[in-house]
Amino acid sequence: MKPPIEMNDINNFAYITSRKLQNERDEKSGAVFMWRRKGEEEFNYKLKCPYCSEEQESSVVFKKRPYRVKSGNCGRSIMVE
Ligand SMILES: [Zn+2]
Repeated sequence: MKPPIEMNDINNFAYITSRKLQNERDEKSGAVFMWRRKGEEEFNYKLKCPYCSEEQESSVVFKKRPYRVKSGNCGRSIMVE
């Protein structure tokens, strides 16, 4: 999965992570790319769900760690470590 944003100016970002995601069989079948721009509260993410393989993009405000995103397709909760 390619990063959905241009990373030329990394100073604009307060948070960037790219992770592989495991399904229940410990297969790295998914991935998440998550970022937050400086001065913004919302995290944006691009997700390939490890359970249903659906690719989706959304944004979310996290209250606390660990960060979790929910697949809009299969409804499963996915932890982003
Ligand atoms: Zn899913």
